[in-house]
Amino acid sequence: MPFSSFGFSPALLRSVGMKSYAAPTPIQVQAIPAALAGHDVLGSAQTGSGKTLAFGLPLLQKLEQVPLEKPRRLRALILVPTRELAAQVGGEIYSLAQHLPQALKIITVFGGVSINPQMMNLRGGADIVVATPGRLLDLMEHNALTLNDVSLLVLDEADRLLDLGFSAELDRLLALMPKARQNLFFSATFPAEVMALADKLLRNPVRIEVPTEPQTRPDIAQRAILVDANRRTQLLRHLITENHWKRVLVFVATKHAAETISDKLRKARIYAEPFHGELSQGKRTQVLADFKASRLKVVVATDVAARGLDIAALPVVVNYDLPRSALDYVHRIGRTGRAGESGVAVSFISADSERHFRLIEKHQQGNVEREVIVGFEPLEAPMAETESVEDAQPSTGGIKGRRPSKKDKLRAAAAHGQDDVSTRAA
Ligand code: ADP
Ligand code: MG
Repeated sequence: MPFSSFGFSPALLRSVGMKSYAAPTPIQVQAIPAALAGHDVLGSAQTGSGKTLAFGLPLLQKLEQVPLEKPRRLRALILVPTRELAAQVGGEIYSLAQHLPQALKIITVFGGVSINPQMMNLRGGADIVVATPGRLLDLMEHNALTLNDVSLLVLDEADRLLDLGFSAELDRLLALMPKARQNLFFSATFPAEVMALADKLLRNPVRIEVPTEPQTRPDIAQRAILVDANRRTQLLRHLITENHWKRVLVFVATKHAAETISDKLRKARIYAEPFHGELSQGKRTQVLADFKASRLKVVVATDVAARGLDIAALPVVVNYDLPRSALDYVHRIGRTGRAGESGVAVSFISADSERHFRLIEKHQQGNVEREVIVGFEPLEAPMAETESVEDAQPSTGGIKGRRPSKKDKLRAAAAHGQDDVSTRAA
């Protein structure tokens, strides 16, 4: 079916037409009519399957149908978990709205940058705000906006926003919105406990589930390479050089690892930069822009880069450290193989992470063949079967759910008023 069959306005169709997409993706086909009909939607579809348009297009169509008032009332709020994702989604909505006859005021706000310009931008109101929860709360404390008129709420990466790390901030925001509103929740993953939470917030939602399991994704080739933990950086260098990888996103467990590994790569003349939550926002933005523009070959990142980022034609993702949970694995490897492209996801497996990887495989209901690279044959034997997962992977925790990170704890503390706002992540 073509985009024109949804009944979008000519202006909106023109914006979509400029993107030259052949046809709507399955999640778009299913979610757009439900959202246009006014239903709450819980939409789950794999990474890179076009969820942004699945909520963005109906949102704009709805706003276009009501006459604008002055001052502008904030009618649609889109919440996302990271700053870069806010910028990306805000940009996407902006580009879709550019041909609408009455210009909508779309404001993107996130932490790590000065709040004053954002307050200035919000003067006179806004029609659509794209925000990270922490900065939105800060702005509300400064009386820069209210949520009294929000009739449409989108949670992108909804399971992340509903989990422990954000729940206190989200509760505060939800309490300030009208109860009678339309909710659109989207993610590639919805663990059962989050589903239960979502159920309390949604009214008779239309549930849409397009398969998300990686084994149904021939577009992402998964590889698992056995290597001793202390030889991983050398192996990474070797693989980048041997395979002529043009761009690689490498995931590690800590910001310290991101720093040291990118340093080592640079010393080996491979242009790499770290990307994590304790860099300045200016630096984060720069690194991502350089990477997207292929000015930078390798980004060594923590899970702050795991969700939602759309980096076109990114061929390789490497799990240098395994992710804490199988869900994070789905999101990490989903940075490649987007929108029908193909990609490779390589995981390094050392003696102490073999068992953890098996749990990830179990969650995905598919095994990844173990490889050994000549010259990097592991010397350490995998840990004995009797040891628990927690023992096997002390730094990254168990497989079920997410263990609260330092940032999660800070957020929780902030929500209880024990924190100063500057430590908030977003
Ligand atoms: P998701 O949120 O599901 O991970 P995104 O909304 O970020 O995916 O979209 C991933 C990529 O797919 C983007 O580059 C987007 O421009 C592109 N895209 C969106 N809709 C379509 C479509 N109907 N056909 C082809 N590409 C699309
Ligand atoms: Mg997305």
